[in-house]
Amino acid sequence: MIRKSIHTQMRHEMGDKKLFEQAKTYAFDYMDTIAARTVYPDTRAIANLARFDEPMPDNPQAGEDVLHLLHAYGSPATVAQTGGRYFGFVNGNVIPTALAARWLSDTWDQNPALYVISPIVAKLEQICEQWLTDLFGLPLDSAAGFVSGTSIATMCGLAAARHTLLKRLDWDVNTKGLFEAPPFRVVVSQQAHGTVFKALALLGLGKDRVELVPADAQGRMKADKLPTLDANTLLILQAGNVNTGAFDAFDVICEEARQAGAWVHVDGAFGLWAATCEKRQYLTRGIEKADSWSVDGHKTLNTPYDCGIILCRHREALIEAMQASGAYIQYSDQRDGMLYGPDMSRRARAVEVWAALKYLGRKGVAQLIDGFCENAASFAVALKEKGFRVLNDVAFNQVLVACETPTETQQTLENIQRDGVCWCGGTVWEDRPAIRISVCSWATTSEDVAASIEAFVRARKKTVENLQPL
Ligand SMILES: *Cc1c(COP(=O)(O)O)cnc(C)c1O
Repeated sequence: MIRKSIHTQMRHEMGDKKLFEQAKTYAFDYMDTIAARTVYPDTRAIANLARFDEPMPDNPQAGEDVLHLLHAYGSPATVAQTGGRYFGFVNGNVIPTALAARWLSDTWDQNPALYVISPIVAKLEQICEQWLTDLFGLPLDSAAGFVSGTSIATMCGLAAARHTLLKRLDWDVNTKGLFEAPPFRVVVSQQAHGTVFKALALLGLGKDRVELVPADAQGRMKADKLPTLDANTLLILQAGNVNTGAFDAFDVICEEARQAGAWVHVDGAFGLWAATCEKRQYLTRGIEKADSWSVDGHKTLNTPYDCGIILCRHREALIEAMQASGAYIQYSDQRDGMLYGPDMSRRARAVEVWAALKYLGRKGVAQLIDGFCENAASFAVALKEKGFRVLNDVAFNQVLVACETPTETQQTLENIQRDGVCWCGGTVWEDRPAIRISVCSWATTSEDVAASIEAFVRARKKTVENLQPL
């Protein structure tokens, strides 16, 4: 029972630091045991989540009890995506230095809305803006906004495009809205990511009024099927198809768009990072000719979650699209972060981006990306040897796998997920189920790949045995 006032209790906890020692012990325990655990939480861990079902408590609790509950029943119900054998979605791991930097920065609790609210985070945002544009080979005065992920980054890029295209038509969308606005065209690949369509919907541009360009067997926009572009067009391209990892033909398409005066946005959530490493740079050739790019930190760069970046060649366009005002806002001649994204208050994400980039250096970033690609290539080779079908050209970090029949593929995937040695997600590719392997964790070793291949073989064996007629 706690009798002291909550303020006294919190002062005491900040003073004696015991809670933080406790959290550190739990975190270390998690780090030390995660590799040995099933990748997906077991049924008992999931059932134990019922421990969290309770009415909102009336009285304050001891902080140590809150933390204890979280570790005892929360930690086992996490998905072990930091362990090296998680290949679901395109979920990155976390670089130790970036995680440690986040621990420190969480203690700072900074709000990077304005320079005057946090000079240090404003500084790191400015540094990351320079480093990232340089690293990706983009125009050096491009602007960067630090947002929660690529979904929001794409929305920002498309908002900057919408603002600019309508301004050219003498229409200020910020003040006049969209209802009476002159229309502009939106050209999208049939294989665009779902978040692109979501952003179009949120921005009032409509998912169904787009001109859809067909894609080839790898999921690349067919450049020869591109409609004639003009200065009244928003064209959305993709660096890294979420299934195949394929890249649109930027060099050719961006050149055509540039000559037509169209705005090009590149969804580069995980794939834009190919530009940072010599061996994979050919995949992103020509991206620098686009107008805006969205990219994640939390996928390929392995920063902690809630970290995406909008990059825009036209600084003023992004600022005008993200405009905000209020008598109490104190802009400075330094970097005011809220000018570059939809949020005002937000987390200091640039701290982790900076820590990851400073730690890795150019060579480390290239090694990280190359490592994903090499492990993906090993997966493809070994799975083919074991008689699986690899459906894509493995040029980046994605491998699409199938068995002999759709039923066999589907059941093998379910068996892989139940087996617990690794975790892969499923998808539908060319109207048939497929297993997706996304290599996106720095921790994945060749032993992890080998153990996962064995899990694939085991899962298929079980499937085939079950499918056998009695
Ligand atoms: C993951 C992904 C997104 C969405 O990014 P979030 O960071 O999850 O918001 C968009 N496009 C592609 C190609 C992706 O892989």
